[in-house]
Order: sequence, then C-alpha cells, then structure tokens
Amino acid sequence: MLCREKIDDYTILEVNLKAIIDNFNYFRSLLKRDTKIICMVKANGYGIGSYELSKTLQNNGADILAVALADEGVYLRKKGIHLPILVMNTEKYSLNKIFQYNLHPCIYNQNILDATIVETKKQDILHYPIHLKIDTGMHRFGFNPEEIPDVAKILKNQNNVFVQSIFSHLAATADPFLDYFTNQQIKLFIYLSKQLEQLLGYQCQRHILNSAGIERFPDAQFDMVRLGIGLYGISVCTFSHTMGKDRPYGVKPVAVLKTRILQIREIKKGETVGYNRNGILDRDSFVACLPVGYADGLNRHLGNRCCQVFIGGHLCPIIGNICMDSCIIDITDITNKKIVEGDEVEIFGKHITINFLAKKLQTIPYEILTSISQRVKRVYVKI
Ligand SMILES: *Cc1c(COP(=O)(O)O)cnc(C)c1O
Repeated sequence: MLCREKIDDYTILEVNLKAIIDNFNYFRSLLKRDTKIICMVKANGYGIGSYELSKTLQNNGADILAVALADEGVYLRKKGIHLPILVMNTEKYSLNKIFQYNLHPCIYNQNILDATIVETKKQDILHYPIHLKIDTGMHRFGFNPEEIPDVAKILKNQNNVFVQSIFSHLAATADPFLDYFTNQQIKLFIYLSKQLEQLLGYQCQRHILNSAGIERFPDAQFDMVRLGIGLYGISVCTFSHTMGKDRPYGVKPVAVLKTRILQIREIKKGETVGYNRNGILDRDSFVACLPVGYADGLNRHLGNRCCQVFIGGHLCPIIGNICMDSCIIDITDITNKKIVEGDEVEIFGKHITINFLAKKLQTIPYEILTSISQRVKRVYVKI
C-alpha cells in the first residue's frame, strides 16, 4: 500500500479501498442475507483498477465477479483472483480462453450458444456453467422472450453446459418516471425464468438488479444482484448534482483525482493564456499550471472557466483551453494564502464530486471514472 508522500508523480488517482469495502457493505445491508452479490469490475473496475478491487472484494465477501471481455477475466486469473468470473460480452473467438481460464460465459443468442456447445464438445467438457441473458426491454443484447422454448430444446439435448443463472438487465432503475416500465421488465423476467426452469427441469439462479435497482427495487433481488457503480461511491438515493451536497448517506467517495502545481506565474491584465488565446485575463492575475490535461482524462469541455479545481480550501477556475498534458487555473484570489508550486490540487473527489463534473459535461458518473487514462497512476490507500 502506497501513501501519497512516497509518490513521485504529481497527477494520481487515489483510490480508497476502505471506502470500497464500506460501499460493498452498505449495499449488502440492503439485501437479504443469502442474496449473492456479483461485483461488476469491467472496464478495469470502472477505471479504478480491477485487480486491486477484485482482491479487496474477494477478501471481503463478494461472491462473484463480472467483466465485459474475456481478456479482462484472464488478467484477473493471471493475477490470482479465484472467485467465479462472469464474462458479459462473450465473443465467439474468445470461448477457448474462457474455458482455459475457468471463466463463465454469458450467452445472449443462439449463435453463441451453439458455438459454446460445439467448443465444449470438442474439448470434452461436461456440465460447464453458463449464464443466459434475456432481453426484457433494454433491447441491447440478449435472447428474445419467444426464443426460450428453442433455447430450452437445445439445452436439453446435451450435457456439456448447464444454465447456472438466467438474468436480464433493467434499462431505467434510476429514473422514477420509468418505474412502470421497470416493473414490467421485472414481471416479464419472472415469467420467462419460470418458463425456462420448467422446460429445463432444473432451477437456475436469477438476477436482474444493478446498483440503482438494489436501492430502489429490493423486492426484485431474486438470488443475486449485480453491483457496479455503487461500489465506486455513486448512489441514486440522493442523486442531486449540487456540488458537495450529493453525498448520499449510504456510499462514500472512492476515487480522488489529484495533482500538484507545476508552476505559478504572474500574468498582466489584457494578456491571454493557452491555445487560441481563449483565456483572456481582465485583471493582473496569478495563474498556476497543472500537469493534467485531456490526455489524462480531464475533459476539454471543462476548460474556459466551465469548471473549478479545489486547492487549499478554495475553488479556482480552469482558464483557457485545456491542453493535452496540462491546464491553467486562476489563483489570483488566493495568492495571499501562500499557495506554492508543488501544492496539492483536487480535480475531483471530496470537494468536487464526480456527479458534479458529470452534470457539467452532460454525461454520467460512469464516463468520468472510466475516462481517466492509463498514464495516471492509481494509488491505493486504506483509510
Ligand atoms: C455494468 C452492468 C451492471 C452494473 O450496473 P451499475 O449501474 O454500475 O450498477 C449490471 N448489469 C449489467 C449487465 C451490466 O453491464
């Protein structure tokens, strides 16, 4: 475990693994005792580091992990993660890897089901667990409801794979205006999963809830739930976008994007800073250059005073265009407070929340987190 003082890099993503555990336990507390939790660690654990996260979750009661790609699962296996791992986007040519590394494929259409059975036969594999994804209204990927009888027929004719779980994905758990639709999806899922079980002649685990679903539709928890963004400190329960006030009672912020001041300079009134002279100074100013830019995941739309950073108790606007590897902030209003080069700056975290930035950028917190690029070192703390 590294601590900030020992880090050479100015720009880091500090990840609090204790907050991950607390968030996991918060969601655990909303569920029945025997409901299993699948932790979604896809996209490198929503950008914060899938291995460290998986290891922490493995040691703290997670039942299953899920990734999007087979390679993400292979990476975790090679690092020694032993929990069951679901591969959500099973691709035909990754089936070999899936079996080799003991990953569980999610099966969403007859082509991939056929390919999976062919491959298991070829490799003399018996009773391999698969997970069937049914489309109940999201209309992204998954079996159509009408296909269930055909799927059951295919499955009954072989003993190479068995359905360990049947699941579906809800399109709008966070939106109260769409609760009617969500409830329709849940009803359809109950009907289809019963139908499949009857046709197969055995029981399958069932799951449909994501993080917002756990908070808003706990009655639909079935046997398992799929916990994603909630782990990373984003909750729908008090989903307001006001800065600093969107800290829900249940979850804690996990990630802080930090940097340090590279250089402080005095620039005269009427001059401009940055590319295309967009940062016009209407007073004599002190400006500070930060070594973080759009190549690090600091969205270029946050420049030109759209957003502020937090430094020494103050909010300072980002002025001018954000560059690839740096940006410039206006610290004129705080120069008497002894801001010096090397001082720490928060881009997002405790004072400027991910929700706030997402709102500014007209996107969702998921995109803010997953946009932090690989060159930003992830530093793990447990406090
Ligand atoms: C990513 C994902 C989840 C988790 O969603 P959150 O909103 O992050 O909780 C659940 N189910 C599926 C199928 C997913 O792809």
